[in-house]
Amino acid sequence: MSSKQSIARGIGRLSDMVLAKGKGSYVWNTEGKKLLDFTCGIGVTNVGHCHPKVTDAVQKQAATLVHGQVGVAYHQPMLEYVDKLLPHLPKTLDSLFFASTGAEGVENAVKLARQATGRPNIIVMQGGYHGRTLGTMSMTTSKTVYSAGFGPLLSGIHPVPFPYTLHMPGDEAANIAYCLQEIELCLKQRTTPKETAAILIEPIMGEGGYLPVPKAYMQGLRRICDAHGILLIADEVQCGFGRTGTMFAVDGMLDVTPDILVMAKGIANGFPLSGIASRRELMDKQPAGSMGGTYAGNAVAMAAASAVLDVFQEESILANTRARGEQLMTGLNNLKNKYPILDVRGAGLMVALEFDSTVAPGTSGKVCATCVDKGMLLLSTSVYETLRFIPPLNVSAEEMQEGLDILDAALADVFG
Ligand code: PMP
Repeated sequence: MSSKQSIARGIGRLSDMVLAKGKGSYVWNTEGKKLLDFTCGIGVTNVGHCHPKVTDAVQKQAATLVHGQVGVAYHQPMLEYVDKLLPHLPKTLDSLFFASTGAEGVENAVKLARQATGRPNIIVMQGGYHGRTLGTMSMTTSKTVYSAGFGPLLSGIHPVPFPYTLHMPGDEAANIAYCLQEIELCLKQRTTPKETAAILIEPIMGEGGYLPVPKAYMQGLRRICDAHGILLIADEVQCGFGRTGTMFAVDGMLDVTPDILVMAKGIANGFPLSGIASRRELMDKQPAGSMGGTYAGNAVAMAAASAVLDVFQEESILANTRARGEQLMTGLNNLKNKYPILDVRGAGLMVALEFDSTVAPGTSGKVCATCVDKGMLLLSTSVYETLRFIPPLNVSAEEMQEGLDILDAALADVFG
């Protein structure tokens, strides 16, 4: 198709194929090839492609009210969704703002933190990813490609080391202590607490390598924030909405309540929707008119998001995520004795496989391309050679086994 040439080349792409349709855990390209989708459009189609409940809700909403501009009036789907979502959030986060993309969510979280504290600076994790807008690329350090040549970046952003024990000397406890101490140093050497609005962290570092944040580190961040009046922002754009086996990673594996929680991706199963949740006392400091956006909290996306929460309940999505996550981890660990695998890690269905340092640069990309040939969409991540698995949360045991078999065959080709 010659129209491909008219699409910006700056978009990196796993495959050159053209997708025509999706259903459940599978997509089909225009040549009729069926592929198991273990990318979920990067953690978006969490209840599978074109889930009938979501499609039905979207069709009904599209025939009723498509666009209810939030600066003009409230709209019904948003109010209904707020009632449904609040019980899933940490109790103290009782005020919501909706936007369209994850990056917009993060930017609004940072705006809120600055405005509510009256402080300008943000501490971020080395290796973190928060988006491609000017503001979020300034807070992104997972790969240089996201910001090289696009500067000058936002000032007042301070990256600190993240406890990635696999690539650090010492054991996890020592690395956590070191990384927490680096924040204390940062607050003495680079940005005073009085200038520091927030610490921004992904509870599972996504693009940086699918690295679960150790609980002791997250709790250390909470302590530092509380001691200095700094806000803790959890970017759950990729790890939220059931991905880790609980609705949000902060209440499940981490048991820490952030001051601001950012949501997107899986929230509406493919419709552009993001949001931030915070305490009303913080959110209410924002003057009327300072937050918003033409499409902020689109009515059709809201209807999709409501349907997603219904599906979670009706189809026991969280239980399936945990069960299939265990199956995936076991299957990947079994491959360790056949191939040069250094680490298998993750939570729920947000799982990574990192190759050891003997593999050639580009190996993970080669494995992904081979998987595509064999009928599965799979992505790599991070600056280390790492594969990441983001299947739908309602993937069946048979589909999971199919994915593991395709991967095994692809690894045999690449390492054979
Ligand atoms: N934060 C995290 C943790 C993400 O994974 C992403 C997207 N990969 C974003 C923010 C940006 O989201 P979006 O692409 O919707 O702007």
